[in-house]
Amino acid sequence: MSEKQEFKKANHVVLTSHINHVFENIPVVNWGEKDPKKRGPIIATVSDEETRNAIGTHSGSYTVYRALSIAKGEYDKDHRPDLFNTHATTTIGPHESWYDPEKIVSLDPWGGEVQSVFKDEIEKGLNVKPTIAVTQARLQLPEIYEAIEKGRLKPDGKVITENGDINVTKVALEPVWYLPGIAKRLNTSEGELRKILFKETGGMFPELVTRPDLKVLLPPIGSTTAYIFGNPDDLANTNVELSCRVHDECNGSDVFGSDICTCRPYLTYGIEHAAKTAQNGGVGLIVYFRKEGRALGEVTKFLVYNARKRQEGGDSAANYFKRTECVAGVEDARFQELMPDVLQYLGVKKIHNLHSMSNMKYDAITGSGIEVVNRISIPPELIPADAQVEIEAKKAAGYFTDGEVKDEGSLKNVQGRKLDE
Ligand SMILES: [Zn+2]
Repeated sequence: MSEKQEFKKANHVVLTSHINHVFENIPVVNWGEKDPKKRGPIIATVSDEETRNAIGTHSGSYTVYRALSIAKGEYDKDHRPDLFNTHATTTIGPHESWYDPEKIVSLDPWGGEVQSVFKDEIEKGLNVKPTIAVTQARLQLPEIYEAIEKGRLKPDGKVITENGDINVTKVALEPVWYLPGIAKRLNTSEGELRKILFKETGGMFPELVTRPDLKVLLPPIGSTTAYIFGNPDDLANTNVELSCRVHDECNGSDVFGSDICTCRPYLTYGIEHAAKTAQNGGVGLIVYFRKEGRALGEVTKFLVYNARKRQEGGDSAANYFKRTECVAGVEDARFQELMPDVLQYLGVKKIHNLHSMSNMKYDAITGSGIEVVNRISIPPELIPADAQVEIEAKKAAGYFTDGEVKDEGSLKNVQGRKLDE
């Protein structure tokens, strides 16, 4: 076979929008319906063509790796997960917010309970897969050991073990988007949203434009993880003090300790406070969103670092946001409109201490009906020297601080390290 013929053969794929593939008996999804049986399971497994009621598939961006495993012949495309013993270590919810079709639009609140809630459907052969998983973990962090050494934290044998490890419950959440709800959140029409999603992914999911009857999309993006310190049920109790940080991924700082930004110090400070709050009878929550480099990605981020450090006059707080916009087209692609969904899923109604200086995050959280009592900015002694540019620029741009805000003139004097320095 010639290469062209071979491609033609492999290319013979029947699109799900094909008239023979619009099945009449697909389980209906009634988003926001109180009874999960009436709400219906989300079926996004690709092996179940006749019952699929969602666009896209499981595992977010990793779906592409699964495709490569199948292509290599290492993975059975019809594999069905054996869900025995996979159920949550702690039951989350259900909370009132789960029954409001507008409070949660970017995850499936029943996605962590499919093993029990949709047991019958699974036994009947429907390939329903969890989109949420809850487990337990211990965190071992040098910053926490240091906090114990300096006397800021004390092991209690419960939240913090005698050797300084922190006990947590962690929840992994895959994105499940209810498109009419997402459109409403973004102030656009569902049709317009579908068209733009289709176009900007290079036409990845034709059903976005050909199957308006399918309302749910599992987008190929990163997941979210919630780390809970203390009793998860207390998150929904407004009388229990809650310390919370909503953190957007920054691999360079979070994992590798790069000193150009405050991400890891702010994150570990949030963890320290979350653990301390839990020790004092409260509850702590860290939510980690996979939105690397202000959701622009690391390549863009590193290009911006170079542009910042090579500009005339050096890297200065006065030009911090301008450089990103020049390279990326926007200064920040992280819209925060969907972020509060995970808080709603956990039943949060009141945050006593919010660890974030971002007004976008604050506005999104309070806009979703959650009360915020105190806003906590990063303590000055935790800011790396080269990250002064970032923090001063953010404060001058209106980010929350209880400290001093520099004017245009003094911003120019906040200088970062040059390349090769
Ligand atoms: Zn960072």
